[in-house]
Amino acid sequence: MKNIAILTCRKAADVCTGAACMKAFNEKTGSFSAYGEPARLVAFMQCNGCGSDPTDENMAKKIARLEKDGADCVHIGICSEPSPGVECEIITQIAGIIETRGIAVVRGTHA
Ligand code: SF4
Repeated sequence: MKNIAILTCRKAADVCTGAACMKAFNEKTGSFSAYGEPARLVAFMQCNGCGSDPTDENMAKKIARLEKDGADCVHIGICSEPSPGVECEIITQIAGIIETRGIAVVRGTHA
C-alpha cells in the first residue's frame, strides 16, 4: 500500500475544490497512473501562502504529520506553477524539505 499526499497552492485553493486532483487519484490517471499497487490518499495540503517561510514551525508541523502518517510520496499540483513550467519558489523549497525526510516528491497530479 502506497501512502500518497497532494500539495497545492493556497492561493489557487480560493477557486479550486481539488476535484481534478481527487478524480485523477481515484481513477489512477495523470501522474497517479504509475501506481499499480493499491494506494491511498493520506493528506491534501497547501503551502502557507505567498510570503510564508517554508522553514517555519507551521510548515514543519505539516511535514512532521506527513511523516507520522507514513506518506511515501507527495504529488505537487500544477497550480503551484505561476507560469507554465515555472514552479513557485516556496513550493520548491517545501519539496526540498520533504525530500530530506525521505519522502519522494513527484511534480504533477491530474496534469
Ligand atoms: S507561495 Fe506559491 S504556491 Fe503558495 S500561495 Fe503563493 S503562489 Fe501559491
